[in-house]
Amino acid sequence: MNATTLPKPPRVGLVSLGCPKNLVDSERIMTKLRADGYSMSPDYAGADVVLVNTCGFLDSAKEESLEAIGEAIAENGRVVVTGCMGKEAEVIRARFPDVLAITGAHQYEEVVAAVHEVAPPIASPFLDLVPDAGLKLTPRHYSYLKISEGCNHRCAFCIIPNLRGDLASRRPDAILREAEKLVAAGTRELLVISQDTSAYGVDLRHATYPLKGGGEVRAHMTDLAAALGRLGAWVRLHYVYPYPHVDNVIPLMAEGLVLPYLDIPFQHASPKVLRAMRRPANDAKVLQRIRSWRQVAPDIAIRSSFVVGFPGETQEDFDYLLNWLEEAQLDRVGAFRFEPVEGAAANALPDQVPEELKEERYARVMDLTARISAEKLAAKGGATLDVIIDAVDPESGGASGRSKADAPEIDGEVHLRDAGALHPGDIVRVLVEDSDEHDLFGVPVN
Ligand code: SF4
Repeated sequence: MNATTLPKPPRVGLVSLGCPKNLVDSERIMTKLRADGYSMSPDYAGADVVLVNTCGFLDSAKEESLEAIGEAIAENGRVVVTGCMGKEAEVIRARFPDVLAITGAHQYEEVVAAVHEVAPPIASPFLDLVPDAGLKLTPRHYSYLKISEGCNHRCAFCIIPNLRGDLASRRPDAILREAEKLVAAGTRELLVISQDTSAYGVDLRHATYPLKGGGEVRAHMTDLAAALGRLGAWVRLHYVYPYPHVDNVIPLMAEGLVLPYLDIPFQHASPKVLRAMRRPANDAKVLQRIRSWRQVAPDIAIRSSFVVGFPGETQEDFDYLLNWLEEAQLDRVGAFRFEPVEGAAANALPDQVPEELKEERYARVMDLTARISAEKLAAKGGATLDVIIDAVDPESGGASGRSKADAPEIDGEVHLRDAGALHPGDIVRVLVEDSDEHDLFGVPVN
């Protein structure tokens, strides 16, 4: 009997730049292309077309995107560009006239149509299959779950609303269906992302939607987080702005439905700078609220990011920030030096801070927060924690993973010795033996 010879599917190479939100877009595009019979190429040489999903958040990110396009042109020559920089097609065309097509962020159909034109798909029932949960670019055991797109705020340093538009929330029943599929396919940790998670559902007027298997869910962060928590995977909330109703998700953390982890970008502490930044939920009582969150969920880990050197930031404002950080004792802190992004309102503000001063302030914030992090991690010595395994090293017998306080890529890790026969995605109890500024070291216990 002759075996059926399958036609060779066209191969797509992918370069995905930028934030997790862009990664989710890449996953969606690749899922659709896989469903259309394409396969992925791990290198430029084997690709019939290379897709570059760009980021245009900062000028430095734009430059990185342009470099990636240039590399793909030089190595392969058949390049389709998508993502945030799609808004600036003229800039791309001026530098790389040979780019075959340019589409903007979230224009899945357009990107897929462009790929179809450049490397036509071969219809085959053998190639048209796609895993039920879609094709994922993250490891199988954790998945980003995008709940909304865009943002209704207009922070002075940010151009995301120009690039991605106003808030557009996904229906909560669709999000839950996607999450159920992911969990069924092996996801043990759901990372909830958006530009502004606390605002989820505002545009849907927080309406209630029926669920397929019975019951209903309201388009609201608290209700969605609780429903996701019932799926049995870890649920981690990112980009939560400190609106008053955030207080209502903390009891879900205490109950164990949602991880005791809040990624909450404060950006500054000085009320004057926050006003100039036009930050949402600029609440002078944040320190008090952090204290009350810790009373409700004592093991809550709080991650935040801060901008130093924003125009008009005086020494007094900066000292205020340092004192505030000392008081807040945040678990994880990322700091950025203010960078004028083309098109951002802050660029026109008076009293821009000189670069050397920005550097100095950045270094001081990093030193202080590294010290606080080291102290907080040292206090975990002797404790036992749940750790999700990300990678194992059969040679050394060790493994690395993350505690509930650590999001992938941005926070610290837990390094294990004598990890035996663990696999990525296993969740194990670990005795903490040592720590440094960012990571923990330990051994699995029964
Ligand atoms: S909240 Fe501010 S920083 Fe965040 S996406 Fe919206 S405008 Fe940008």
